[in-house]
Amino acid sequence: MARRSHSRKRSSNSGPAPSKWQKTPGGGRDISRILDPAPKVEHAADGDWFVQYMPAVNAVKTYKCPECSRNIPPGVAHLVVWQEDHLFGRERAVEERRHWHQHCWDTRRIF
Ligand SMILES: [Zn+2]
Repeated sequence: MARRSHSRKRSSNSGPAPSKWQKTPGGGRDISRILDPAPKVEHAADGDWFVQYMPAVNAVKTYKCPECSRNIPPGVAHLVVWQEDHLFGRERAVEERRHWHQHCWDTRRIF
């Protein structure tokens, strides 16, 4: 008698699930425009201020610092500051924004 024991082991090894290698958009660096999306709000005795960091690559003009009355030449990182609770609204406040040396803003005197 011929006995055929035919057992076939089938390992269902289909391998790891195929993963999609997606490149996340926005991962590239665009050094031409690095701006903090949200300015920082600082609460001071003379009101609330928006403080936006201006990196050196974005500083392309000469500004005058209101604290020391000296110029901020292009290519120098500094701060852009405007009033949060401006009498005529935020648009006006942004129009009247001032460019400060970082250290001038840090050491400014509040009258
Ligand atoms: Zn200054």
